[in-house]
Amino acid sequence: MALHVDPIACVAHGLCAELLPEAVTLDEWGYPIVDERLLTEEEVRHARRAAAGCPTLARRLERIAAVPAEPPPP
Ligand code: SF4
Repeated sequence: MALHVDPIACVAHGLCAELLPEAVTLDEWGYPIVDERLLTEEEVRHARRAAAGCPTLARRLERIAAVPAEPPPP
């Protein structure tokens, strides 16, 4: 799972950074900078709260499909 933000819908409340400081920091204007790495199970629980708490629904949690490290041999 990874966290994403819709930059058009976000109004810089900063709530997401309070709920998930492990993966979200704020820029100088209060807009979130999201660490888009895959989240641990513990972080996913916090990320769900952050996504649900976003007042503009700008934040969403997405399941990322596993990508093979190398392409299969021909
Ligand atoms: S809680 Fe939502 S609106 Fe507020 S900064 Fe985070 S993504 Fe933007």
